[in-house]
Amino acid sequence: MSYVGRFAPTPSGPLHFGSLVSALASYLDARANKGRWLVRIEDLDPPRTAPGSIDAILSCLHTFGLHWDGDVMLQSERQSAYLNALEILQSQKLIYACSCSRAQFQSNPQYLCTCLAHPPADKITAMRIALPQQEITVGDVILGPQTQQLALDVGDFVVQRKDRLFAYQLAVVVDDAAQGITHIVRGSDLYDQTPRQVWLQQCLGFPQPVYAHIPIIINNHGQKLSKQNLAQPLNLAHAPSLLSEALERLGQATPCNFRQAPVTEQLAWAVEQWDISAVPPRMQDPMAFV
Ligand SMILES: [Zn+2]
Repeated sequence: MSYVGRFAPTPSGPLHFGSLVSALASYLDARANKGRWLVRIEDLDPPRTAPGSIDAILSCLHTFGLHWDGDVMLQSERQSAYLNALEILQSQKLIYACSCSRAQFQSNPQYLCTCLAHPPADKITAMRIALPQQEITVGDVILGPQTQQLALDVGDFVVQRKDRLFAYQLAVVVDDAAQGITHIVRGSDLYDQTPRQVWLQQCLGFPQPVYAHIPIIINNHGQKLSKQNLAQPLNLAHAPSLLSEALERLGQATPCNFRQAPVTEQLAWAVEQWDISAVPPRMQDPMAFV
């Protein structure tokens, strides 16, 4: 099986150090395995796309020497593929219309939606997938396997929202299959969503990729580095030293005096030396990158 990996950022702002670490890990794992490395922009919710951020992300990847193969896939152009998947689920009677509001679920953890047994009369509804009482176990190269009883641990989740936007869980599975992705290396904030995605792959008859979740970087306040908690955009003028720092976070012991080496030189070395088993299970981040 030939290796196909991918980096799939959400264009809600410029990349920060945490996204560089994820991009780098998926790139190195693909290149070290003589694989292809694709980029997909997860602009599923167009109003959340920050103006100019797609170009900024792509030019940032170029600055770090992270050159991808083929065309960039845009989720905003994939509506017919998601609709097709939704119709497949519908034809198998796996999804149902639900008119309950998010507030109803959030205000009461015991809230029971009865829309499956009593279909709502409303025309404008979300679509949920009906989950079986069945355990699902998914392996992970870095964090180890996890088991979820989806019906209990997650509950019937939304595959299409009331506003007709397709849910991330459905889109990511459809796109990974369409791009022929064999290996997914991404941030561990998505680790507990993986069983949901594997379940959708099984329902849709898609192959299951190999998963490896990179521990997310925690700032000094114990928060994940993200745009929401104001992680700084990457300073492209310092690309070589940031790349070197990212390699060290991934447990790849870099040579002395490596920080000033051009990014192409650092990447060539890192592809040769890449060892996914050296990625630490936790990462701390100094204030310098928060
Ligand atoms: Zn409902």
